[in-house]
Amino acid sequence: MAKMVRKNYLMAPGPTPVPVDILLEGAKDTIHHRTPQYLEIQKRALDGCKYLFQTENPVFILSSSGSGAMETAVANLINPGDKAISVNSGKFGERWGDICRAFKADLNEIVLEWGDFVTPEKIREELEKNPDTKAVFTTLSETSTGTVHPIEEIAKVVKEFDAVLVVDSISGLLAQPLKMDEWGIDVVVTGVQKGFMMPPGIGLISFSPKALEIAKNCTNNRYYFDINYYSKKFPDSPWTPPINLVYQLAKSVEMLKEETIEGLWERHELMAIATRAAMKAMNLEIFAKNPGNVLTSIKVPENVDGKKIVSFLRDSWGVTFAGGQDTLKGKIIRVAHLGYMSQFDVIVGISALEMALTKFGYDVELGSGVKAAEKVFLEAGV
Ligand SMILES: *Cc1c(COP(=O)(O)O)cnc(C)c1O
Repeated sequence: MAKMVRKNYLMAPGPTPVPVDILLEGAKDTIHHRTPQYLEIQKRALDGCKYLFQTENPVFILSSSGSGAMETAVANLINPGDKAISVNSGKFGERWGDICRAFKADLNEIVLEWGDFVTPEKIREELEKNPDTKAVFTTLSETSTGTVHPIEEIAKVVKEFDAVLVVDSISGLLAQPLKMDEWGIDVVVTGVQKGFMMPPGIGLISFSPKALEIAKNCTNNRYYFDINYYSKKFPDSPWTPPINLVYQLAKSVEMLKEETIEGLWERHELMAIATRAAMKAMNLEIFAKNPGNVLTSIKVPENVDGKKIVSFLRDSWGVTFAGGQDTLKGKIIRVAHLGYMSQFDVIVGISALEMALTKFGYDVELGSGVKAAEKVFLEAGV
C-alpha cells in the first residue's frame, strides 16, 4: 500500500489555519512595550479591530483566550446579587451561565435544546418579568452546534430596557454580520484563533460608554481583568502585552481590512452555502436549527461511529474536524469554514468526509458532495 505524505488540514472552528505572513510576524524581534515604536504597532492593531468590530468604542487587548474576555465582561458588569440573563443552547452559552454563577449573579438562565436559537420574543418576555436585569449574555455563533442567534433583533429588544447586551462573538465575528454600534451592542468579546487567522493567545473586548460607566461602579472582586485599568491606559496596555502576538494582530487586521468586512461576510457565507449543498447531496442532515457561516454541523449517520470517524480523519489523513461536545459527543461532526480558507479548502474537507464515510460503511456516492459544492462556487462566479 502506498503511503501518503502527511499534511495537516485544520477544519475545526478554532484554532483555524494561520497564513505564513502572520506566522512570520510572530518571529520578529521582541521589542520593549513601553516605547513609541511598539505603541505605533499596537495602535494599528487596535484601529483595525475597531473597524472589524464596526465600532467607535475602544477595543481592549487581553492576554487570554476568548473565555478570558468572557470573564472580563461578567467581572466588570455584575455586582454580586445583580440580575442577569444568559442563553444556554450549547456549550458556549452554557459557559456564560457558569461565569455568571462564579461571580454570584442572580441568574436567569434560558435553557434551550442544544442546536436551537433564542427568539427576541423570549428575551422580551424574560426582561418584562425582570425589568431590573443588569445584563443579557448571548452568543452570535454557538460554535458547539453551528447555530446563529438573531443578535440584531435581540439588540432592539434589549434597548427598550435598562440592561446592557453582551455578545460572545468569539467564532462569529468576521464570518457572520455583526455591527456593534449600529445594532447597539454594549459589549462584544472575541478571540483571535478563529476568524482572525491567528495562533491563540489574545482575547479582544469592546465596551460601549454605558458599559464602561457600569464597570466604573462595579464592586466585584477583580484585578488583572479590571477593565478600568485598560481604559485608563488605552491605547497603551496596563501590563506587559503579548508583544509578538500583537505584531501578528496588526498583520491580521491589515489583511482582513483589505478584504473589507462585507467581503469577509460574503466569503464565509458562500463557503457555508457550498458546504450545506454538499451535505444535502450526500444525504446528511444538518444539526443546527439556524445554521450560520462559521461551521456546518451534521448528524452522524446511524451505524457510523462518530468518535472514531473524527479521530480517523485526524490521525490517519491529517484532516481535523471537530466532533460534538458533552451530550453531543459522537453524535455530530462540525466542519468549519472559518478564517483563512477558500473554495478549495472547503472541497478538501468535503472530499475527506465522503471518503471517510465510505470507509466507515455509509452509502455515499463518491464525488456527490464535491460536485454540489463545485457547482455553488462556479455559479457564484468565484
Ligand atoms: C471558541 C469559543 C469560545 C472559547 O474560547 P477560548 O478561546 O477557547 O477560550 C467561547 N465561545 C465561543 C462561541 C467560541 O467559539
